[in-house]
Amino acid sequence: MSKQRLEGKVAIITGAASGIGEAAARIFAAHGALVVIADIQDELGAGVVASIGPDKCKYKHCDVRSEKEVEELVGFAIKAYGRLDIMFSNAGISEKITSRILDLDFDVLDNVIAVNVRGVAATIKHAGRAMVASGTRGSIICTASVAATRGGWGQAVYTTTKNAVVGLVRSAAAELGRHGIRANCVSPGGVATPFAQNLTGMSQSQTEEFFEGTLVLKGGGPLKASDTGEAVLFLASDESAFVTGQNLFVDGGVTAVGATPP
Ligand code: NAD
Repeated sequence: MSKQRLEGKVAIITGAASGIGEAAARIFAAHGALVVIADIQDELGAGVVASIGPDKCKYKHCDVRSEKEVEELVGFAIKAYGRLDIMFSNAGISEKITSRILDLDFDVLDNVIAVNVRGVAATIKHAGRAMVASGTRGSIICTASVAATRGGWGQAVYTTTKNAVVGLVRSAAAELGRHGIRANCVSPGGVATPFAQNLTGMSQSQTEEFFEGTLVLKGGGPLKASDTGEAVLFLASDESAFVTGQNLFVDGGVTAVGATPP
């Protein structure tokens, strides 16, 4: 029997119309949280609300590139549910994996930074302000990536922004700790979401097979969006009450061990 690990808590999840954010929304709601699902894909977001149940969650359009929309999102959650305990700042994009640094496109760079860095900074700022103002010992979790710890072939901009997410979170942990607010990252390995399929240019099953091959832990199948969602549940819950400033990898061992022989 699952225990209600988020009973009485209110959460915002950005990028929750799909993939990891959607999986986290389902897990949060199953554990008793009231959830605001924020995204720019309004139809998908409304579909997620309908399937989880409108008594447990609401949808709010929010383009995280706009600080104003992020501020409004936080206001929406507090108006709807009376408080804010958890911000899962998860919305993220990447340039194409075929991009090369010698051909860097600065419009693409600006847009990826706007979502992955500005967006995350805005969510930390406005969720943090609301939590400080209400005296809530909240939890802020931001999605970084295995890409946050290394350079790599292609995705120079994405890698840069995900390193920035780790820096933002550590700084938030330092500054908000005195208010009892925690800040952590979660770093997924490859999960065959629409984001990843867009990168690989392959079907979902091909992408799963490709990512599964990179895992150190064999036999459990490919990583699923819910595997990251379960780790975020831990970081959101009081069970991680003294965990702050960390970057939790959900990557089947890839970051710690590196490439393994086939
Ligand atoms: P996804 O495409 O399934 O979901 C991402 C969601 O973010 C989408 O619903 C999209 O509409 C939303 N979004 C995009 N731009 C937005 C904006 N400006 N404002 C608000 N919402 C916006 O992808 P996912 O794999 O679930 O990605 C979630 C996070 O996980 C991202 O930050 C991504 O970088 C990170 N990540 C993914 C993988 C992977 O392999 N899938 C690995 C490591 C990290």
